[in-house]
Amino acid sequence: MTATRQQIPFEGQTDKGSNRMCGAAALSMVYRSLVPSRAAHALDEHPERRGRDGTRRTRGDGAPGGSERRRGPRRVSDVTQSDIWPLVSRKGPSGQLSCATHLMVKDALSRGFAAVAIQAAHPLQTLIACRENGIRTILNHRLKLDGPAGHYTVFLGIDGEGVTVHDPYYGADHRISHGELSELWQPRYPSSEIVGNMLIGIADQPPPLDACPACKVPIPREVPCPKCAKPVPLAPAALLGCVGSDCMRRTWSYVCCPSCDFTWSFASTAPEAAPGEGDGLWNLGPLFAELDRMKAHVLSIPAAAARPDVQQQLASIDANREKLKLAEKEEMARQNEHTRRSKEAGAKARQEEADLRKAQEAATKPAPPIDGGALGDALLKDLGIVT
Ligand SMILES: [Zn+2]
Ligand SMILES: [Zn+2]
Repeated sequence: MTATRQQIPFEGQTDKGSNRMCGAAALSMVYRSLVPSRAAHALDEHPERRGRDGTRRTRGDGAPGGSERRRGPRRVSDVTQSDIWPLVSRKGPSGQLSCATHLMVKDALSRGFAAVAIQAAHPLQTLIACRENGIRTILNHRLKLDGPAGHYTVFLGIDGEGVTVHDPYYGADHRISHGELSELWQPRYPSSEIVGNMLIGIADQPPPLDACPACKVPIPREVPCPKCAKPVPLAPAALLGCVGSDCMRRTWSYVCCPSCDFTWSFASTAPEAAPGEGDGLWNLGPLFAELDRMKAHVLSIPAAAARPDVQQQLASIDANREKLKLAEKEEMARQNEHTRRSKEAGAKARQEEADLRKAQEAATKPAPPIDGGALGDALLKDLGIVT
């Protein structure tokens, strides 16, 4: 079962004591696993000097740019988790530094990889898609069943019993059963550091996917973040499956902005293929035009036009033409009704998701402070001491 698992070198987090560098260790593992891909693409490892299409841009001196200097060692193969850590960590509510998912995506993008963080709608299906498409996947779940602390692991493989991950804390080839993973992957605690079912997909030069193969909805290369307006790249696109609202291939509920950490949902629609008056659903126009030409030709021959059997044939053709038009109209109405119902179901599902998310957010908000004075007043009122 593990035969198809991804080949990724293991790396433990170097801060076992504070236990916060898991995200940096996970990224380091992923980067090192992608070094051969970099080499195969014969690219130098200077994303800053590469064009959007991956071709080299020439810049005379070859001196490291400012961002290169900030990022320490220049080659991805030389980057260590200690180099990554300051770039992907930020202070949490407790004042302690920990890794942030959006900063991890930002780091991968800055090194020239394709990276996107999503909240999976169907987590296990998403993991299978990642494995099948060779997408490196970092999972963000809780470290322990009985605690709110967030943790990052590198997904390796999935089988009937569970998943295998490289866990920077627990070790290489760590097994997690499906039941345990689905529990660890939920926030559960009001103070939980995770959102739930969140994962980061990373790839080097993933094949572009211009449209969903099933519903033909185009998948844009990037979308603007509704909050900060910066572009959010949507690659590797195979991780998203589709950006249509009701499509079976769509794997995700929310996408995360690497610039500002905003998570939101969106849906695109297929380009309108509204049939014009003339061509209709079955494009009968050219057929009817040919029939008209034939009829005119027959009627232009007096000997033929006068014959009762020919007249009967022509009348029969006219009757069938009307039947065909009617059937086409019925089929169009049926398809419109189907589209309307699909849209309704999609809207309902999105509403349910939004409600659930609101409830989750409300549950993770701290309760308002207790107002002793107001409680006292209420008690006195209840007892009838004051009115
Ligand atoms: Zn689709
Ligand atoms: Zn943003």
